Amino acid sequence: MSQPESPRSLLELLAAAPASRPAVVLPEAGIRVSYGSLRAQVARTADAFAAAGIGRQDRVAIVLPNGLPLIVCFLAAAVAGTAAPLNPGYRQEEFGFSLTDTDARLLVLPPDGGEEARRAAGGRIPVLTAALGTTGEVEIGGRAGGRSAGAPSPDDVALVLHTSGSTGRPKRVPLRHRNLAASAGTIAGTYALGEADVALCVMPLFHVHGLVASVLSTLASGGAVVVPARFNPLAFWRTAREQRVTWYSAVPTIHQLLIARSGRERPAGAESFRFVRSCSAALSVEAARRLEEVVGAPVLEAYGMTEAAHQMASNPLPPRPRKFGTVGPATGVHIGTADADGRPRPAGEPGEVVIRGPGVIDAYEDNPDANRSSFVDGWFRTGDQGVLDADGYLSLLGRIKELINRGGEKVAPPEVDAVLLAHAAVAEAVCFGIPHPTLGEEVAAAVVLQAPASEAELLAHCRDRIAEFKCPKRIYVVETIPRTATGKILRRAVAAALAEPAR
Ligand code: AMP
Repeated sequence: MSQPESPRSLLELLAAAPASRPAVVLPEAGIRVSYGSLRAQVARTADAFAAAGIGRQDRVAIVLPNGLPLIVCFLAAAVAGTAAPLNPGYRQEEFGFSLTDTDARLLVLPPDGGEEARRAAGGRIPVLTAALGTTGEVEIGGRAGGRSAGAPSPDDVALVLHTSGSTGRPKRVPLRHRNLAASAGTIAGTYALGEADVALCVMPLFHVHGLVASVLSTLASGGAVVVPARFNPLAFWRTAREQRVTWYSAVPTIHQLLIARSGRERPAGAESFRFVRSCSAALSVEAARRLEEVVGAPVLEAYGMTEAAHQMASNPLPPRPRKFGTVGPATGVHIGTADADGRPRPAGEPGEVVIRGPGVIDAYEDNPDANRSSFVDGWFRTGDQGVLDADGYLSLLGRIKELINRGGEKVAPPEVDAVLLAHAAVAEAVCFGIPHPTLGEEVAAAVVLQAPASEAELLAHCRDRIAEFKCPKRIYVVETIPRTATGKILRRAVAAALAEPAR
């Protein structure tokens, strides 16, 4: 008998499981949505988007909290056109940039709220609302009827996201159906996910970690994903117990919060865990050990990136060994290391981590400069530094790119510099990361003033313009900002000179 072909689009991926099996569980509403219902809802919503004028090349911006409306709208937008989920915590200017840069043709909002996104759309972009009805069906408000969305091809762009560039403007990452299907299949394979698995999704669904690792890998393997509106450490174990959760994936900050709240006893709810996955920021060896004691299951650190449709490497399930402090062997991609020009280094030598494989984007959108510098001989340069050991396990050694990794959320320092410089009292500004005990890194900045301004005033100025996670938590007022002989600001040198660790 021939093997069934692996799914190459999100529609194929969604089609595999029997209709009666539970797909999505909404713990707060006590609603279980079957695969049959999910498929019907996605088809109906895709038709609603098509009726609203969305065609294959059109982008649908989605600003919704975690939940069924977001999952259905994401899949439906990827069927009718391209989904562009945005962080609901953005401020108006950030929404404005994303809507314009992606050329969004439709904006999906909750019936209440989403005011900053609505203002950013400014009547130029039509708005539909999406809400969960009492029967577990997503209700789309404000739609016209009567058009049907076709089926997407593997090469169509399903999802477009921005990654913060360390220089210049954010880069647009077009993830094709085949990229997402490949990555979801890889994750399902890495952890041997199956119909009996129940994932607890605690990561936001406007980022690949939650979307691909928790939701798409589950749908690819016929299991169920439990989706609370947000991560709540107080409700976590109750939900795990009631829903018989078998695994969850999260950033180290979330694991740390769970560790901090745990006592000597294994929490009720952990007994059904097969494993825990950690990704998107470095998990300390200490935290990995402690978490294994708490949950009584293997903790598997993985390495993911938007441009790779998420997972590139992961520690494996037993009986294969897991090595704390490494992100494990390559999964679904080839991993190598490269020198400063992007040329391959001999096996086992440290260098920039480079990848190639079916999950990896072919190119950034409309960005020849980034494409020239990011792709060398078919390899994609990650901007991370690492080394592979004799067993092929990757250790990450640092970053070449100048991003701040705040508990998995990436902040591009130039964006924060620009916001500070927009204040009339600021003559020079430099933003940088400082160590933080649970977030890994926190955002701080130094400014040279040309008129009086207090730290509180500058912080308020930032909060009005950028999402909370990007705002500096400390702003140092300095006389001069140290530069190199060529006038370049060395962020890391400024950070080292100024900062005591954040609390
Ligand atoms: P994103 O595109 O937001 O998923 O961010 C990708 C970046 O997150 C990578 O290039 C790494 O810098 C970082 N990252 C992902 N996983 C890990 C990990 N396990 N340890 C350290 N950094 C990580």
